[in-house]
Amino acid sequence: MIKKLLNHTGIRKGDVILVHSAYRKLREVTNFSPGDIIETLKEVITPEGSIIMPVFTYCFRKKNGTNEVFDTSNSKSKTGYLTEMFRLSDGVTRTNSPTHSFAIWGKLNSGKQFVDNPESPLGRESVLTSLLRANGKILMLGCGFESFTFGHYLENLAPAPWKDISPWDYMGVEPAGVSVDGETKLKELPGCSRGFLSFEKYLLEKRSISKKNFAGLSYYSLDANDVYNEGLIYFSKFPDKLICAKGSCQPCDSRRQKLKEAGVIL
Ligand SMILES: [Zn+2]
Repeated sequence: MIKKLLNHTGIRKGDVILVHSAYRKLREVTNFSPGDIIETLKEVITPEGSIIMPVFTYCFRKKNGTNEVFDTSNSKSKTGYLTEMFRLSDGVTRTNSPTHSFAIWGKLNSGKQFVDNPESPLGRESVLTSLLRANGKILMLGCGFESFTFGHYLENLAPAPWKDISPWDYMGVEPAGVSVDGETKLKELPGCSRGFLSFEKYLLEKRSISKKNFAGLSYYSLDANDVYNEGLIYFSKFPDKLICAKGSCQPCDSRRQKLKEAGVIL
């Protein structure tokens, strides 16, 4: 069943894929364990391609010192059970960002091709740049654009007007990641992703993407470069649609306020 689902998505041997998933929904449809899903993904992609999953830990430095400290080998992923199981599976290496690390299996995981940019883990020359260079795909199984990590890449590259504005001041978060090896300055601090739903709606209305369905599981299989090209336009043209409505979201309000002080009204 899981193999049929993966065939349905169009992924094949040699592809480089970034996978987002809602394991609960996957289980309802396939009745497979995380181990089975991961092994089948590897079987389909083969070491000629690569599988990437976010295994973020958000170990930002906090003013009051209450932040967690990232340990590449031991810090558990906070982006879902399946991603944690993937991280611990054979042949997977994790990048070194204390805040937004990725678990990588396959060809991108070797030698020169391995990319790690802890200062800008979702920005220029990050793992997401490698995904584009490899003509990769983004697979979103059972989840929508609220899980669309690539949206932060688009914010940074377009760039959105809040690229350099931290949304987390009110949480006492500072622009650094903390790991057992020390601190890393951060170029950007990714914020709220709720606004990415408007990008999803825009792409659907334009028919640039389509929501697929397999046995009751809805999913997207996206060409990363297509979404990148669409995104650069959308994120630079319609930033007002990517920030939450006033008074509904503290991180977005925080950004809006700082932009206003700088003379930008959204
Ligand atoms: Zn928001």
